Amino acid sequence: MKSILAIDDKRSNLITITALINDQMPDCKVLIAMSGKEGIEIAKKEQPDTILLDIIMPEMDGFETCKRLKEDALTKHIPVVLITAFKIDTESRIKGLNIGADAFLSKPIDSSELMAQVNVMLRIKEVEDKLRSEKVALEDIVKKRTIKISEQNRKLQREIIERKQTEEKIKNLSSRNQLILDTTMDGYVLTNLDGKIVDVNPAYCTMIGYSKEELLEMNITDLDAEIKPKEISLKTKQLLSQGYSRNESIQRCKNGKVLNLDMSIGVMHINETPMVFYFIRNITSQKYAEKIQRVLLNISNAAITKDNLIELICSIKDELGTVIDTTNFYIALYNDETDTLSLPFIEDEKDVVTSIPSGNTLTYYVIKTQSTLLATKEKLKELEDLGEVGKYGSDSEIWLGVPLKIKGKVFGVLVVQSYTDEFAYDESDVEILEFISEQISIAIKRKDDEQKLKEAFDKATESDRLKSVFLATMTHELRTPLNAVIGFSEIIKTEDLSIDEIKTFNKTINISGNHLLNIVEDIFEITLIETGELKLAKESVSLQKLLNEVHEFIKIEQQNTEKEHIDLRLKIPPELKKISIETDPLKFKQILINLLKNALKFTPKGSVEYGIIKDHISKEALLKFYVKDTGIGIPKNKREIIFEIFRQVEESHSRTYGGTGIGLSIAKKLTELLGGKIWIDPNFTKGSTFYFTIPYKDKGEDDDGEIRSTKRMGKLKNKTILIVEDNKTSSNYLNFILTKSGAITICAENGEIAVASVEKNAAIEVVLMDLYMPVMDGYEATKRIKSIRPDLPVIAQTAFAVEGDRENALEAGCDDYITKPIKKELLLELIKKYV
Ligand code: ADP
Repeated sequence: MKSILAIDDKRSNLITITALINDQMPDCKVLIAMSGKEGIEIAKKEQPDTILLDIIMPEMDGFETCKRLKEDALTKHIPVVLITAFKIDTESRIKGLNIGADAFLSKPIDSSELMAQVNVMLRIKEVEDKLRSEKVALEDIVKKRTIKISEQNRKLQREIIERKQTEEKIKNLSSRNQLILDTTMDGYVLTNLDGKIVDVNPAYCTMIGYSKEELLEMNITDLDAEIKPKEISLKTKQLLSQGYSRNESIQRCKNGKVLNLDMSIGVMHINETPMVFYFIRNITSQKYAEKIQRVLLNISNAAITKDNLIELICSIKDELGTVIDTTNFYIALYNDETDTLSLPFIEDEKDVVTSIPSGNTLTYYVIKTQSTLLATKEKLKELEDLGEVGKYGSDSEIWLGVPLKIKGKVFGVLVVQSYTDEFAYDESDVEILEFISEQISIAIKRKDDEQKLKEAFDKATESDRLKSVFLATMTHELRTPLNAVIGFSEIIKTEDLSIDEIKTFNKTINISGNHLLNIVEDIFEITLIETGELKLAKESVSLQKLLNEVHEFIKIEQQNTEKEHIDLRLKIPPELKKISIETDPLKFKQILINLLKNALKFTPKGSVEYGIIKDHISKEALLKFYVKDTGIGIPKNKREIIFEIFRQVEESHSRTYGGTGIGLSIAKKLTELLGGKIWIDPNFTKGSTFYFTIPYKDKGEDDDGEIRSTKRMGKLKNKTILIVEDNKTSSNYLNFILTKSGAITICAENGEIAVASVEKNAAIEVVLMDLYMPVMDGYEATKRIKSIRPDLPVIAQTAFAVEGDRENALEAGCDDYITKPIKKELLLELIKKYV
């Protein structure tokens, strides 16, 4: 229902208005107020659709009331119709319009005008209300929208802030990642799926030696020795399915060096493109250390497992070869006692040598300085200029030698060198070699000692064996002739025999005795040589005479050994027949006789030829003698050892040929003592040929050598010879030989009697003086005899084994000497020299 508020201070007016409205608009409610104040109260409260307001009212007139109504938000929308006092009250109307009045009515109020005005106002009010409510609705919508928008706005703001924060975080994170990549020690490489490098970090550049720009032009397969270009797609596929892999690989640096790398490889998406990343750690030194550890271990194992030094060094070379270039490799061992170097092992592209002179070689330099030498060409030149080293062997581009030491003492050098690459070795190789050299030294020293020990053991075993062989041989060699001597002398003594039988048996006894004597002499001789007590008595002798004497002797030997069927020949080139040589004649003859005896012994049939080889003669040079036979020969593998004492080709108990194995070793030692050499022709296949040399000084011809000796050869008939000898048997033996030769003998038992005899008997022409006698010895007696008759020749009888006899005898004044046991031929020959 509509309502109209009428405000008028006059009740009558109010009644009129109420009646009019009730009449015209029965559905409309009329509210009344008697003052402006009351009217405002009611208007606020009841919200009438139109207000009819009288202008003239006490206290608050209609203008004031209208003004307040229009100023109040609760009432300003209510249309106000001002009721003026008279019709044309323009002033009031203007005033009323200014303060917001909507229409005017004038008094007396015309009902139709009132109704018309009221209706208009109601319609306006209705429209206004609608408008207002629409506006409110609109405002509400706007408000709601605004709220929503501002909410959305706030959300957006939040999102923007969050996004900004995230972006900031991401920015921070990626710069942190970049920082990590830039500063990490590990290498980082990013490639596409084809292996093309798209990013690397500084650590990788340092590691591999290429710049970032160079690397960005490369493919990972250009660097990685383990990945072949055609395998990259397969590898990437595997990686894509696994997502991650870790493996060790090998890459080659720009400078050619090979690196061992530990790689973590994975796939990541950058802008939705899959990429392969590599995190790379350089484990070269770790690998190196592992390798070196392995080398050390293997070398120490080899020291135990390898059989000999060569095998050990071979395996050291192979092991070292896993860490450095050992194409040219050798080990030299140093003997500080002899100051010499031996080369047990060498493998070299150019030089094949077996020894190194210890002079001014690089190897010797390392030993001298006791420190490692890395000799580049410049260093070598420097050392050469200083005179520290000289040229030896082929020139190498670089030479590296490390001393091998045990307890600080250098005993060898390990050397590697390159003929092609001057950069083959550097300081790091020096470090490695020095590090490993200790282990190598221990291994080599150990094996060397072991080998020496083994050699000593073998030698001891061998000498033990030889001792047994020697004892067996000796027993046999001594017993056989002794049996003959004892057996046959027994028969002669007891049996009734014919003269011929006695002569035959006697010959056997004599041969056996001589044989025994030879053995005894050989043993004495070798003992003297071995103990260094043998002295040489050199003199100038005619070569022809020496050889003739040997020939005479060996012919007798040939008869005694029943080898007369062997054709024995002595060949002396005519131009040498008259020369004389400076040597010890006895020793010289002994060498030749030993060889000839063997030649006869080991030649069942055929010939034995000996002599001098002409073309080897020169001034201050050597005379070369030979003894050639057509006998059983000597196997090649025995041609060296038979010169060792007691060694024989046949060492079994069932030997075909007798012998003690001493003869050749005496011959060898005597030859060396005389300044020569002895050997067997290594190529001889039929029989054997021995050679020996002795120094020869051209002293001119000795043409009367032979004549002189023949001149001296006089008869002993009626020559008086004094035999001074305390041993009855020996005295009888000498007496028998000399009287048989026609000489007159006088015997004295000691030196005193001898001196007295000389004083008494002027007929004495030669004295045969024993040296060891009771009362007065031979030395003293000789001195005294010489003081009485200085020209009387005195020949001393010396004992073979007694060192110094000969020298002492000569010193005491003896003119010559003869060694006991005295042989008939030699004695007669000697005495004839002096009568
Ligand atoms: P022996 O002859 O007393 O055994 P040697 O030292 O003189 O001792 O010789 C050593 C060994 O050398 C002999 O046993 C023999 O086996 C061998 N031999 C030496 N000379 C000859 C030779 N002319 N022909 C064959 N073998 C020989």
